[in-house]
Amino acid sequence: MKGGNGLNHDVDDAAAASPETRKHVLTPPAPRPRKKVTKELLRKLPKTDLHCHLDGSLRLVTILELAHQQKVKLPVGADTAEGLAKAIHLGERCKDLPEYLKAFDITCSVLQTEEALERTAYELACDAAAENVWHLEVRYAPILHTRRGLSLTRINDAVLRGLRRASREHQITTGVILCGIRNMDPRDSYRLAELAVAFKGRGVVAFDLAGGERGNPAKDHTKAFELIRENNMNTTVHAGEAYGPASIKQALHDCGAHRIGHGTRLSEDGDLLKYVTDRRIPLEICLLSNVQTSVVDDLARHPLRLYFDLGVRVSLNTDNRLITDTTVTDELWRAHVDLGFTLEELKILLVQGFKSAFLPYREKRELLQRVNDTLAELTGSLPKGAVLAREVDIDEELREAFTPVDPSDTDRV
Ligand SMILES: [Zn+2]
Repeated sequence: MKGGNGLNHDVDDAAAASPETRKHVLTPPAPRPRKKVTKELLRKLPKTDLHCHLDGSLRLVTILELAHQQKVKLPVGADTAEGLAKAIHLGERCKDLPEYLKAFDITCSVLQTEEALERTAYELACDAAAENVWHLEVRYAPILHTRRGLSLTRINDAVLRGLRRASREHQITTGVILCGIRNMDPRDSYRLAELAVAFKGRGVVAFDLAGGERGNPAKDHTKAFELIRENNMNTTVHAGEAYGPASIKQALHDCGAHRIGHGTRLSEDGDLLKYVTDRRIPLEICLLSNVQTSVVDDLARHPLRLYFDLGVRVSLNTDNRLITDTTVTDELWRAHVDLGFTLEELKILLVQGFKSAFLPYREKRELLQRVNDTLAELTGSLPKGAVLAREVDIDEELREAFTPVDPSDTDRV
């Protein structure tokens, strides 16, 4: 019997073979050996990073260089790579979210010039592209970068310049999500919402609310979200991270969130969980960040497995590449090691990431087709759910008529 998987070829051969051989040839082919999940393979696969903070995702060495150039005084002992890593709790467990957020005082201290903002945005997109993130959504709160008198528009222009430069040099598309801050004056959130609206279609793809959840309800910022909604813009809200399901309810019903940042505690409310599943509201899951901020005791207990098995639309993201010392590749790897995700399941997670992106529908559909092809090429098979769509053979005219339907949008993929 010849090698390879060409079944028809084998059957043709069988017609001329002896009965004994024919019996052997017609035996169904053995299943293809499963591709072993390795970090190297995961690094090669096309990915998204939809929840990634600019001020938490700098290169360590860049902070040191910027501090030196700008004569910014870093905390005592934080003027070496080792000391700085310690000062920002790099990859270390914090007692809670507020302790974790203190690291951002340091990173923001060097992000007060246009050059620094452009450089760090550029480097972040380059780092993401280096691990084959094909689509990156970077979020930040421009108001945290006005200490030296920069205007909100100049700040945002600088970030967009950096991202555009990276996109020209690498295979990556980017979008900016502007964040209001829960514990700041709601009028500041409104100003940031105005900025988002002004930059709609010019690099800004959505509006978010970040910061400490406890004691800072999202509904205080509804005016900002009303403006966003009136302008038909996308929204995502950090919710269900450091506070329970009530916070997710507010994000959805008071703010009109289209995606939820984290949603780790959604599992505490079965009814809301069903609502999120049925409405296909994507959750931006950040596994290692949730461990670092003690939102979950350990990774094996993270509700991602439950969400995935229920059919919730979930994606894996970094949150803060530097502070949490992570990449999307690392997040996928830990989902495999700690939560038992198989390669086929990881592929579905990747596809769901692309589906959750704040991209125009037709652009997203084209991108998904390329993602499916690349996943098939690198892993030996299409993601589950994409197979049926590709096998359907319809003529060109009919295909045109059916294009509004996402060809891979079957079942839970
Ligand atoms: Zn976040």
